[in-house]
Amino acid sequence: MTEEAIMESSAVRARVPAKINLHLGVGDVRPDGYHRLRTVYQAISVYDELIVKNAPTLRMSLTGEGEGELPLDDDNLVIRAARALAEEHGVTAGADIQLHKRIPLAGGLAGGSADAAGALLACARLWGVDVDTASLAAIGARLGSDIPFCLYGGNALGTGHGERIESLPVGATLHWVVAVADGQLSTPRVYSELDDLRAAGVGEYHGDTDALVTELRVGDAESVAPLLHNDMQAAAIGLRPAIAEVLDVGLADGALAGMVSGSGPTVLLLARDDHHAHALAGRVRLRGVARDVLTAHGPVQGAHLY
Ligand code: ATP
Repeated sequence: MTEEAIMESSAVRARVPAKINLHLGVGDVRPDGYHRLRTVYQAISVYDELIVKNAPTLRMSLTGEGEGELPLDDDNLVIRAARALAEEHGVTAGADIQLHKRIPLAGGLAGGSADAAGALLACARLWGVDVDTASLAAIGARLGSDIPFCLYGGNALGTGHGERIESLPVGATLHWVVAVADGQLSTPRVYSELDDLRAAGVGEYHGDTDALVTELRVGDAESVAPLLHNDMQAAAIGLRPAIAEVLDVGLADGALAGMVSGSGPTVLLLARDDHHAHALAGRVRLRGVARDVLTAHGPVQGAHLY
């Protein structure tokens, strides 16, 4: 075997889903600067992939979304996650991490968190670090609120600042149209817009997730649809009014419900089933209101090796 063939055969591959928030309740700001959250997460079938190989130093490359735009150094969450794992477990080896991104950048789908989760999982395997999901999640939580969920996947209740995860029983599969906006929205910017709205007395905290959690277990798309909620939606639309048009188009075209994904600007449209999702996606595509229109389903499993 050539050296290259040995490196290839020891490659570790990880796949990590995007997250959406079926409910996103944003509370007050804690003394540490984080907002208190109560959120219901769902992992959906839009994936980033990582291929990790042995290397003397820690380095990464990137293809797909964000190529030529995202830094590939210590500012990238992939490198930060791998470094945090190495430091915690005394690993001195490096890794070559190839990232293929399909999750749109800064779209409210936690792409960066997904990549960090994938790097934690894949590097742990590459370096032979014996850790469970909870230990990886604890490292991830120090880097980003959504990283623990990206490791667990499925449906989950998120509390704290989103990093405390309680997995929820899985019921019906939901089918989504994901309307990817042209351009990005910075999550901190949307939080500060929300703070401004609240200071002006507009919008309140929605913390009740009980009915949604029940319907996710026993119901279907029709019963889940009226229970979807995002406290950040008004702030995202305030900063990017074009989001409202995408929502209007989706609802006019037959979506059961429409909502902003996380901090936006991605819009999620709930369909009745897979067939309906494809038909709806086709109609939304024709309207030309989104850069890209994907279909996806959830819940799916979190970061996994394959
Ligand atoms: P969230 O909803 O988790 O706040 P998002 O989905 O809106 O995030 P991301 O795609 O996670 O947005 O990117 C947020 C920012 O994180 C990017 O603008 C970028 O500056 C930074 N970042 C660092 N590493 C990555 C990465 N591997 N992929 C994406 N973004 C990254």
